[in-house]
Amino acid sequence: MLSDILSKEECAKCRICCCFDDTDLWEAPVMTDELAKELEDTQFEYLENGKRILKMPKAMIGGEELYCCNLLDKNKGCVLGDKKPFECSIWPLRVMQLDGKRVIALSPVCPVLQTRAVKDIANVAKQLSKRIFEEADKNPDIVKKYEAGYVIFVIEGVSQ
Ligand code: SF4
Ligand code: SF4
Repeated sequence: MLSDILSKEECAKCRICCCFDDTDLWEAPVMTDELAKELEDTQFEYLENGKRILKMPKAMIGGEELYCCNLLDKNKGCVLGDKKPFECSIWPLRVMQLDGKRVIALSPVCPVLQTRAVKDIANVAKQLSKRIFEEADKNPDIVKKYEAGYVIFVIEGVSQ
């Protein structure tokens, strides 16, 4: 989806967004009913708030305790390929809730998009916005609470 500004090769070298720590486990992709039906129930787990996410075993990686998605293959990347959760397919863009409005914002953790022109990211965010808001209508759990540091590119209902 983001292939105009981010290549598979760049992601394969990085893979930051498939691992989480205690502070950002809220970022872990929520499983939709649709995807859960296709996966074995050993591949997902439930958070304390009842949300279902992909299984993320905790491990020491590079001296840090991290939760890494079970579906991340060290050599091949995401084993789900095109069937990965919608949130993964639009990462590092996120759909978030801010002051009663949904927005599309860029996570500050992606090192590659930090090097891209803001206007190019804005164009992609705008092109994807209809699809992202439609998906958020179907699966409201993918809408995260806005966090400081995320750069907002689209505000729902406001023409850009
Ligand atoms: S953080 Fe950015 S470059 Fe790294 S894997 Fe995620 S989307 Fe790709
Ligand atoms: S489903 Fe795939 S892209 Fe999403 S976190 Fe797991 S390995 Fe990464």
